[in-house]
Amino acid sequence: MQKALAPDISTWPDENPQLIGSRCGGCGATTFPRQDRCPRCSGADMAELLLPRDGRLVAWTTQGFAPGPPYKGPTGDAFVPFGVGLVQLGDVVRVEGRLTESDSAALEFGQSVALTFVPLTTDEAGDEIITFAFEVVR
Ligand SMILES: [Zn+2]
Repeated sequence: MQKALAPDISTWPDENPQLIGSRCGGCGATTFPRQDRCPRCSGADMAELLLPRDGRLVAWTTQGFAPGPPYKGPTGDAFVPFGVGLVQLGDVVRVEGRLTESDSAALEFGQSVALTFVPLTTDEAGDEIITFAFEVVR
């Protein structure tokens, strides 16, 4: 079966899953992931907010080596370099995440991307671990 790497940050496995952020009722600041206190005004009036699935690529790089903890993906010979991008979701919030494109030369500033979910690894029980990523919309 498939399991989410972080079940509390998205609505996956919904048909059209969204990331779960939060918005401050005091100042309107938006966070991802969800936070109990506003990072801008320290208010506690945070409401859950489902984030847009579409966005634009703002910055990106290629992760050429296995990251340190809490990274749960393949390491050593099993590691495959992957793209990491900063994505502006609608006019709501910027989210950093894995990109399905690992060749940074193939990416452009402002490119349209959409939320997707990809297999990351397989755990000891044989379950496939799913994580969110952004794919280029062509
Ligand atoms: Zn606030």
